Amino acid sequence: MSEIVYLNGDFMRLEDARVPVLDRGFIFGDGIYEVIPVYSKHPFRMQEHLARFRRSHDAIRLAYPLSDAEWTRLVKDLISRNAGDDQSIYLQVTRGVAKRDHAFPKDTQPTIFGMSSLLSTPAREVVENGVAAITTIDYRWLKCDVKSTSLLGNCLLRQVAADAGAVEVVMFRDAFLTEGSSSNVFVVKNGTVLAPPKTNLVLPGITYDVVLELAQANGVPHEVRQVSEAEVRSADEIWVTSSTKEVLAVTTLDGKPVGSGKPGAVFKRMHQLYQDFKRTVMRQAA
Ligand code: PMP
Repeated sequence: MSEIVYLNGDFMRLEDARVPVLDRGFIFGDGIYEVIPVYSKHPFRMQEHLARFRRSHDAIRLAYPLSDAEWTRLVKDLISRNAGDDQSIYLQVTRGVAKRDHAFPKDTQPTIFGMSSLLSTPAREVVENGVAAITTIDYRWLKCDVKSTSLLGNCLLRQVAADAGAVEVVMFRDAFLTEGSSSNVFVVKNGTVLAPPKTNLVLPGITYDVVLELAQANGVPHEVRQVSEAEVRSADEIWVTSSTKEVLAVTTLDGKPVGSGKPGAVFKRMHQLYQDFKRTVMRQAA
């Protein structure tokens, strides 16, 4: 089954989808995107993903081109036209095609694109052993809360991790924890989960919200507050979260073991809560 994508109103094979080179997404990275995980053909936290997508449009002063009902229909169509029970739905809107000029063009149609790929959640071995991360300075712009396709900073930073054989960077700005190149970061200190607040310096992760909701509902001690670099470096546990990574333990930071060097007890509890929650939600959706 070949991959079927959506482009500006039509479904087509991925290899047939074409965008003009003057698209502002290509020229300037002038667009926003969203990634929605799909389990057993059901989108997970759809309303929350669409709410964030709408906020991304507002943040870059782009009219929200489809209604929530139309996005939902589009996502369902992509799911049914593509193979796999578990998928990752990618939606992107750019400011469209126009003569190259930084200021916004008048009266252009946005480019609307959607695709699906197979969702591969972390293998059991990765969950059980954790992953390596390295620390970097967060030199990205000051609108990291916008899920923008302008991801050069994130790509450069992720490559620093890849070059070091690590899966993610843990970033600091002014000696405070921000996030990873494509994930939010939590730490555990003396049994309390610490999460940096949702400011302009981090992407408001959908998984981040789920983790904090689960902590709240299950009596896991947690605090949302600024986390210093020193606290990260002396943390008992470090986690990264995202729609595709779910919750993963970071077991080495800059080559040194985090805590015992194995995924910690609080991580194990949260990972289990997350899996149980996913199952419950999917059963309700079925
Ligand atoms: N931060 C960044 C920079 C990201 O790219 C992502 C992944 N979209 C996240 C955090 C996690 O967000 P979510 O849980 O919604 O996948």
